[in-house]
Amino acid sequence: MTSSVLERFLRYVQYDTRSDDGSTTVPSTPGQLVFQRDLAAELRAIGLSDADVDANGYVMATIPATTRKAVPAIGFIAHVDTSPEMPGAGVKPIVHQQYDGRDLVLPDDPTVVLRLADFPALADQFGRDLVTASGTTLLGADDKAGVAEIVTAAEYLIAHPEIPHGVVRLAFTPDEEIGRGANHFDVARFGCRCAYTLDGGSRGELESESFSADLMTIAFHGFNTHPGYAKGTMINAIKVAAHFIHHLPSDRLSPETTDGHDGFVHPYVQQSGVDRTIVKLILRDFETAGLAEKASFVAALAREAVAAFPGSRADITVDEQYRNMRVVLDRHPEVVAHARDAIRRAGLQVVTRSIRGGTDGSRLSFMGLPTPNLFAGEHNFHSRLEWVSRQDMEQAVEVIVALCRVWEERATL
Ligand SMILES: [Zn+2]
Repeated sequence: MTSSVLERFLRYVQYDTRSDDGSTTVPSTPGQLVFQRDLAAELRAIGLSDADVDANGYVMATIPATTRKAVPAIGFIAHVDTSPEMPGAGVKPIVHQQYDGRDLVLPDDPTVVLRLADFPALADQFGRDLVTASGTTLLGADDKAGVAEIVTAAEYLIAHPEIPHGVVRLAFTPDEEIGRGANHFDVARFGCRCAYTLDGGSRGELESESFSADLMTIAFHGFNTHPGYAKGTMINAIKVAAHFIHHLPSDRLSPETTDGHDGFVHPYVQQSGVDRTIVKLILRDFETAGLAEKASFVAALAREAVAAFPGSRADITVDEQYRNMRVVLDRHPEVVAHARDAIRRAGLQVVTRSIRGGTDGSRLSFMGLPTPNLFAGEHNFHSRLEWVSRQDMEQAVEVIVALCRVWEERATL
């Protein structure tokens, strides 16, 4: 198993599977379907006879149980798309053997240099083999490392039927990077007690908490008229919105000034006009109750802005985006506990992290499939300096296999 995860990874990253948030098709780009069809064929070739691509471009497959114990079915999930923010076609992966702290100059753009001084996580990789792209594209370790690890673990389990495990299901999803990865995920058809996404960073990491997230849209309404004859009648919605933005806190509650467990409010889009100006903000907090507090705080600022411009008004809507997966995972403590055991069994220290964002797992958890996130070895996501190490990927494969064993051992007869 140790050679094939790298071989698979190097093959997968050469598919252009960039997703596109401007597209309305499912999946958003045809390149993802090309990859999914080949992936399903590969899964069938290694013995997962039911592997198929559904109408929405999701691949699912089953590793049959090897035990007679009543083990709940568990799933492993990775996404096949890469970030639309970066070029993802023509990826040329390079393996840098036996990393020793040297600068890694990427040949297609020698100004792109992976330096130990810039990325402390590299200090953990001495003696390991690093994979990067060539300088002009992302690598796509996010999340083809996860795909390669799951497929390699599946091949290993099929080749070793003496390893006892229950039914193990695999899913490979499109369009995660544009937030649509869970949209067409058929949880009932997947049929698992829980699942694990392999889409995380350093070895040993386990993420069982994400932000809770809402989207707030504020439409400031003014009154437009010919500017030459506007005295006493014009109300400029752009100025109302500017007053509002100006009074948002800049020293706290902002992405630029928070980390760790602190949430924020973040205006990220504004559509401006004299008659109407729309401001969109994302609200983030690890506590769902904290979201409501943030929403009323922001709404009060909007009302103050309106009060400063008599005749203006504001329409405010709040839409739920996703919720902290911890709420669901706390009700199923064995899901995270077994993952901790499996990571330790692979000889690694468990590093628990909170995701300052959401994952498909956040949404899947609330769709009835508790889904924490496991490390896949990905680093410098969405960057030309993205990298992954061969040995980290191999250890992720070990964790997957160990996790299947742990669920079997803990099951009653
Ligand atoms: Zn990812």
